[in-house]
Amino acid sequence: MSDRSEESGGREATAPEPGPSDGPAEGEGFLRVTEIFHSIQGESTWAGAPCTFVRLTGCPLRCVWCDTEYSFHGGTRMTLREILGRVRELACPLVEITGGEPLIHRSAFTLAHQLVEEGYTVLVETSGSEDVAPLDPRVHKIMDLKCPGSGEVGRNRWENLEHLTNRDEVKFVLSHREDYEWARNTLRDRGLDERVRRGSLQAILFSPVWGELEWEKLAEWILEDRLPVRFQPQLHKLIWGPDRTGV
Ligand code: SF4
Repeated sequence: MSDRSEESGGREATAPEPGPSDGPAEGEGFLRVTEIFHSIQGESTWAGAPCTFVRLTGCPLRCVWCDTEYSFHGGTRMTLREILGRVRELACPLVEITGGEPLIHRSAFTLAHQLVEEGYTVLVETSGSEDVAPLDPRVHKIMDLKCPGSGEVGRNRWENLEHLTNRDEVKFVLSHREDYEWARNTLRDRGLDERVRRGSLQAILFSPVWGELEWEKLAEWILEDRLPVRFQPQLHKLIWGPDRTGV
């Protein structure tokens, strides 16, 4: 990690620099990959930044509003060396590992570590159902807490909250008022609002399910309750429409 990134609390995507690795040897292992592409980051506090996405195949959850069902099956088996090579070709300092659920694959932890070692700023987007503790601490975690409307509220791994730091973000995807109230109560009961105010958590994101929850209503509720959260539309869908993949 470069000095520039450390000084800014890890908030800037920095140019990759080659460096020694004290983790697993570069390129060891395999992963099943749905797609690797370069686009505009559409979610999280990194929204708007150019980003390389590595989308891994497979997810044990079935959120009713899932917009990446095409990543459940198929994919191409690639070595970590091949993935790293493709990421280098795309030449973007910000890289997100996503899915599906990327953390069901042991090699995803190795990939994240190796990318950080190369100097990339690495985001990992996870459903929150898998243990995030083994991730390289320099990774920025964007972790869902699944609301009842997803149909997967029982999969939240609450112990993960203990492993989030000031680099990390918690995302609630909301289908309706009941989800909003569940998210509001959860962030208060679990002290996430306080953690954001103290700076020990980067952000809490409230994201409306596309085409289901009216944006204006969600904005009004957030303002009414004075919640320290960020309203989070999916920017890539505004740019390219809701059905386009690979963006
Ligand atoms: S965790 Fe993500 S990829 Fe898996 S079903 Fe839910 S939204 Fe889809």
